[in-house]
Amino acid sequence: EGSTTDKSTVSDSAQTADSANVNGKKSAKGKTVGLAMPTQSSERWISDCANMKEQFEKQGYKVIAQFAEDDVQNQVSQVENMIAQNVDCLVIAAVDSSALVNVEKQAKDAGIPIIAYDRLLMDTDAVSYYATFDNKGVGVAIGKYIEEKKDLKVAQKEGKSYTIEFFMGSPDDNNALFLYNGIMEVLEGYLKDGTLVCKSGRTSFDDTCILRWSQDTAQANCENYLTGFYAKEKLDIVCSAFDGFSYGCKSALEGAGYSVGKDWPLITGQDADLMAVKNIISGYQTMSIYKDTRLLAEKCVKMVQAVLEGKEPEINDTNQYNNGVKTVPSYLCTPVPVDKDNYKKVIVDSGYYTEEQLSK
Ligand code: BGC
Repeated sequence: EGSTTDKSTVSDSAQTADSANVNGKKSAKGKTVGLAMPTQSSERWISDCANMKEQFEKQGYKVIAQFAEDDVQNQVSQVENMIAQNVDCLVIAAVDSSALVNVEKQAKDAGIPIIAYDRLLMDTDAVSYYATFDNKGVGVAIGKYIEEKKDLKVAQKEGKSYTIEFFMGSPDDNNALFLYNGIMEVLEGYLKDGTLVCKSGRTSFDDTCILRWSQDTAQANCENYLTGFYAKEKLDIVCSAFDGFSYGCKSALEGAGYSVGKDWPLITGQDADLMAVKNIISGYQTMSIYKDTRLLAEKCVKMVQAVLEGKEPEINDTNQYNNGVKTVPSYLCTPVPVDKDNYKKVIVDSGYYTEEQLSK
């Protein structure tokens, strides 16, 4: 259900940019940046967009921002519209990393630079830079958390085992496979030697990925696993790549009679959405990966600024992100695992959420 342009337009201050010339240099004044965001169904993207909008406007840019509500065609039209409105730069967080090749070419032909935001844009030479979090690092952090919390090294020595099921990201999002690879870098050995037992047998990326990061699909998969494979034995670990999946699994587990403080599994997640942090406090989720969207927005705004001023933006990775056509110079922010032991320090002290928001 693609939302209408009206509903999804956050700011429609689009006006023809009249590039002001200050001392012969182009300034932000009058320049317009188009932000194409994937969906409002998950909180983080709303924050990403709001943070970028605020920071761009502070620098004097105009912003056109649209959410595609996970509809590929919707996003294609939104980007086309931004090109038609003569934006000076495009920032795109794609619904489907490979589906924008034609509009990206249109942008390139119109001389509009593109920055990939959080998700890499695949199969195009029109993307200049990529601002994201270390996506493999997210996976490694999730894997390590499980390894440490369940003391897998000791379990391995003692011949103990834990059951685990996997809920991985969308196959059309380049981040998802990076994350999976990070997780498997840590957990693969334990799966091989039986320290971790996946009773459904679904451990490959293809078998565990969930299209468009759907919470409902995660819940349905979890329900199927629980009825099909965990009638006699409990599920110990839910290895989830996204807070939305963790909510779906929570519902499935409640439905199957699991309870916190008794037999509730270790549940991972990603994004540290408000609800996820509340669930961490109440014990329904064990951890999440905090990705400070203020920081990513800041890095992206600086990239856009540099590109529009004809300067080199700050990058810290030049080899991980090949999109099939080129290796895109990237800035990777560091993801931080959060659980009930450190959320106060990491999330509350940094002002990401207030205690009040978390206690409501
Ligand atoms: C982002 C994650 C997010 C997921 C679902 C990914 O591309 O990197 O932070 O959880 O999309 O929205």
